[in-house]
Amino acid sequence: MVVTESSPQAGSNQSFLEEVSARTAGVSRLEMCIQCGTCGGSCPSADAMDHTPRMLFAMIRAGMEEQALRSNTPWMCVSCYHCVVRCPQGVHIADVMYALKCMAEQSHSYRDKTPPHFAGVFVSQVERYGRSWEMGLTARHYMRHFVTRLPRMAPMGLKMFRRGRIALLPHRIKGTDQLHAILDTAKELERAR
Ligand code: SF4
Ligand code: SF4
Repeated sequence: MVVTESSPQAGSNQSFLEEVSARTAGVSRLEMCIQCGTCGGSCPSADAMDHTPRMLFAMIRAGMEEQALRSNTPWMCVSCYHCVVRCPQGVHIADVMYALKCMAEQSHSYRDKTPPHFAGVFVSQVERYGRSWEMGLTARHYMRHFVTRLPRMAPMGLKMFRRGRIALLPHRIKGTDQLHAILDTAKELERAR
């Protein structure tokens, strides 16, 4: 089944919809989606997505679990929350995207391993330093996946470094022990769900 921009609202498959809702932090309100398309029309990443958020939510409702978890849409979401503030139904779209990423990661359902790798490096940096280290993140990502593009990226990186937008070395925040305690508790809670 292909869910196109013009397709009618998909049928219902409560189990997958409920699972995604249950995995979403807080209340997803996913079942309230009226397929208006405001989210896709507001999304700065829509062009890079396999499916607009509206289409993805129709797929979830139709029980298209495999296709939904293989879609690159959640991985292209940059959590800008533009869609969230514009959704007439108050669907917590960005949080649903996080839940889908988590589910795809755990089941290795993603089609392209590049975004999960990027997310993994980002998370490991935050766990280690308490914040991201853009230079290290970019260098590691490009070395691993796009080494031939590095020469093209170098001038921009140099410019950003000169303007103080990125640091050569990572900066560790104060109180990382407190951060680790928070993260450990969060992981504990996640395991108990
Ligand atoms: S803006 Fe909200 S109601 Fe409209 S399609 Fe997106 S999630 Fe559904
Ligand atoms: S939060 Fe994600 S899905 Fe929503 S507009 Fe921003 S990038 Fe698009």
